[in-house]
Order: sequence, then structure tokens, then C-alpha cells
Amino acid sequence: MSGKNYYDILNIPRNADEKEIKRAYRSLTKKYHPDINKEEGAEEKFKDINEAYSVLSDSQKRAQYDQLGHDAFTSASKGSYQGGGYGSGGFNADFGGFGDIFDSFFGGGSRGQRGPQRGSDLLMRIQITLQEAVFGVDRDIDVMHNEPCPACDGTGSETKKTNVCPRCGGSGQERRANNTPFGQFVSMATCSQCGGSGRIPEERCKKCNGSGHSRVKRTITVNIPAGIDSGMRLRMEGYGEAGDPGAPNGDLFIEVHVTPNPKFTRIGDNLETTTEISPAQAVMGTSITITSIDGRKIDLKVPAGVQYNTALKIPGEGVRRRGRPGDLLVRMKIVIPKHPGSQEKELYEQILELEGNKEPGHGSKGFFQDLKDKMK
Ligand SMILES: [Zn+2]
Ligand SMILES: [Zn+2]
Repeated sequence: MSGKNYYDILNIPRNADEKEIKRAYRSLTKKYHPDINKEEGAEEKFKDINEAYSVLSDSQKRAQYDQLGHDAFTSASKGSYQGGGYGSGGFNADFGGFGDIFDSFFGGGSRGQRGPQRGSDLLMRIQITLQEAVFGVDRDIDVMHNEPCPACDGTGSETKKTNVCPRCGGSGQERRANNTPFGQFVSMATCSQCGGSGRIPEERCKKCNGSGHSRVKRTITVNIPAGIDSGMRLRMEGYGEAGDPGAPNGDLFIEVHVTPNPKFTRIGDNLETTTEISPAQAVMGTSITITSIDGRKIDLKVPAGVQYNTALKIPGEGVRRRGRPGDLLVRMKIVIPKHPGSQEKELYEQILELEGNKEPGHGSKGFFQDLKDKMK
């Protein structure tokens, strides 16, 4: 994808209706069709147009797209779940084409399997601050997802009764014959009439139009635990798409991204920060005040003779993971004064002289005194 959002690709406003979308799609595909347009990049553009249209022309996918935003949506549909380990299917699917990717996350369950399908999993990305990662945080998020239709208890039937599907006889599978130059191939596919469940509503439910699902917006509170790090995923069981009647919902995965903090760096469960002290403070030792990541003032004793870049430890002020919390390491940056006042200069000169007397190898006066003598 070019990084543009789907509305930009089709060059339509966000509130465009179905007709406008279709019109834009038709004129653009005519313009960029690889058979017609031989310009470089036309094929890529044609693909983008099709991808944008496949989402925006489907009201359910479009709602999901609007809800998640372009980046979250496309990364969700292209995410690399390891799959397996939960329910049937997982994400071992071959992510060959966009259609397949999309379906694995937002559409029906995996294809070509018998019986009612478990709902698809959803992926959502959220940003938290480093402070929130250190202490943990509760975050309310809005999710759109399918739940069993309350009017028909998810059966899709006004009477809540269903009949065996006449097309597949209840198997949920149908034969499809494909004619190719090499002969006819027969493959098994999910029944197009019942969608694989093997049953159809006795009387189509008016509320959900027979799908058995209804789309609702839910606010759920996610407990993000202390110690979470970028790229980790939380699983909210059952908050994915609804499954077929009798099958469980998919799960919602929340991928957490921690925004960097300008003052604090995380290293494992420890936090690191730096503080500036003067050469005199470094030599003599001092007491300074450090501001913790959540704004508390903490006194820190700096020992006499501390060296540049030494890390002083404040125990327990790191990541508050359950069990043993990490520490805060404060690195000492000794700042050399660039423009010392005349009194300070005098004192430094005295120090220089003292150093000169201590180290005869460097001459009795020291470099600066030599320089001064020469300039007289
Ligand atoms: Zn069927
Ligand atoms: Zn219904």
C-alpha cells in the first residue's frame, strides 16, 4: 500500500455513499487497468484501487476500517499471528492475497472445514506512555463487533427454528467443478447457501436479515499490566467476531506500543535517566533531587569522587512488575563550566597549581600557567 488511506485512493470524501464509491471505482479501474494503462506504477495503483474498493464497498468492512483507522486496520489484516494454540484455524492461513488476509481477521472462519465456524480474531493497536507501562493502566477502548442477534438468539430465524440446508444436505460443503485446459477438477467448498453451518433459518430474522449476528459498539476496559513492553499482545477472549450459531466468538488481540519518554529509558525492568552535576559536586559529593517518572521528588546522595557516567541506583523506582520491581539508575553527567566567573577561575587556577606540584612530570606550573607566561 502507498500509505494513503482508502478514501484518498478512491479520491472520495469520508462520507461518500455507495453510489459515489462505485462510480469512483469504475472510472479509476478504467483509467488504471493494466490492459489499458502501460505506465509504470499503474498496476500497483490498480491493486490499491481494488483493495480500497473491496473494503469500502462492504458496509461491515468499511465500519471496521473507519473504527480502527487505516494503519491499525491494514496492519491487522496483514499482521503475522503465529496461529495455533487457540480454537480452530488460527492464522496459519496462507496470506497470499488480500481477500484471504481480510477474511482471516474480519470475515468468516477458515474455509473448507465442516460444521459451525468459530468467529474471527481481531487485532487492535494501542499506544501507551512509558509511565503507563511502568505502573500499568486501565484503558477503555471501543470495539465494533458482531454478537449473536438478540431477536433470534443468533439462529438467524424469526421462529428461532432452522432447517437442514437443501443445497448441501446439512454437510456445509458443496462440490465445485472447475474446467481447466487440463480437464475438470472437482473441489469441495463451503456451501454458498448456508455458509457452512448446514442449516438455514426457517423464516429469515428481520432484525439481522438471517445472519444471526448483530453489530454492536462496546466499550471494554483493558487492564494493561505493569511491565508490558512494545509489541506485546493482550488477548481479550470472546471479543472478536461472532462465530456461527453454536460456535464460540473469536478473540480480540490488543497490541501495545509504548511511546518513548524523553527523560527515561527502559532497560529490562530498570529505568535509566541522567542528571547534571558540576565538577565541584562530583569531587566533594552532594545531595540532589531526582524527579521520578510519575513526578515525585526523590533525594539522592551523590558520593564524593563520583566519576563521569556512573549510575547511582534508586531501588524499586523502575518498572513495577509484580514480584520484584526494577530500579532507577541515575547517570552522572559532570558538566564542565564553559564560562566560569573570575572568582571561579581563580580557584581553578589554584587547583591547577596544586595539581602541578603534585605531578612534577607535567611541569611545575601546568599548561595554562605556561600559556599565560608566554603571552605576557
Ligand atoms: Zn448448505
Ligand atoms: Zn436475528
